[in-house]
Amino acid sequence: MATNINSSLRIHGIPAFQDNYIWAIDNGQYALVVDPGDAKPVIDYLKRLHLNLSTILITHHHGDHTGGIEELTQYFAPTIYGPDKEHIKGVNVSVNPHDSIHIPQLDLNFTILDFAGHTKGHIGYYTEGILFCGDTLFSAGCGRIFEGSAAELFSALNTIKQLPQDTQIYCAHEYTQNNLQFALEVEPNNSALQHYAKHVDELRFNKHATIPTLLSQELLINPFLRTDQESLQQALQQRFSEIDTDPLALFTFLREWKNIYPSLPIRNK
Ligand SMILES: [Zn+2]
Repeated sequence: MATNINSSLRIHGIPAFQDNYIWAIDNGQYALVVDPGDAKPVIDYLKRLHLNLSTILITHHHGDHTGGIEELTQYFAPTIYGPDKEHIKGVNVSVNPHDSIHIPQLDLNFTILDFAGHTKGHIGYYTEGILFCGDTLFSAGCGRIFEGSAAELFSALNTIKQLPQDTQIYCAHEYTQNNLQFALEVEPNNSALQHYAKHVDELRFNKHATIPTLLSQELLINPFLRTDQESLQQALQQRFSEIDTDPLALFTFLREWKNIYPSLPIRNK
């Protein structure tokens, strides 16, 4: 599943654990990996292609994103970038939202984005047309709120919405098929969503990845990006007559509902 980013760089998803993707960019000589939760599949990949690991990007501190750091540094001497707000062993360059970093080996620049919400210091890495968003946005869904607030995660998703529409979103998990069940529960009459769900069923049936996903596509089908849309607001109003249709209130409602889905939301307001 390697694809070319431009004439000199390609990107590849290294499967790890049950449903993680460790994203790797290389130019045939040097490689960068994002969130290596497990070292072994990364080492196998790098050895097979005779690549030298120059760079690791870390989005947040969870073990399935950081667990491979220590072993990788026994084989390679990468520069390891990670969020300043989270203390992650092995990170040697701490970065903050709005920073820019340059990766000389791959001639790539990334802008650091503030994605607090899933964890307190979660960050994203954006380079022209490509976003590594860790556990912030998934196709047709979003991350759980473990340490931050709903308002923070909502703000992170709004930051993603402001990126160019043709941004390819490289999230860290293959959760799409499961997320689509919930999305269809929220917006059963969304024809773009129905169409996409069929497409994803075919991809998964053939064991293909559904990631990366395109921002323009997510805006049509991801309920967590659509709480400002009248069609979604109306669909929820029809079902839950008392619901507050303020976009953040709806986002909070959907996130809480998704946590317990397929149970129905318990509303105490
Ligand atoms: Zn996580």
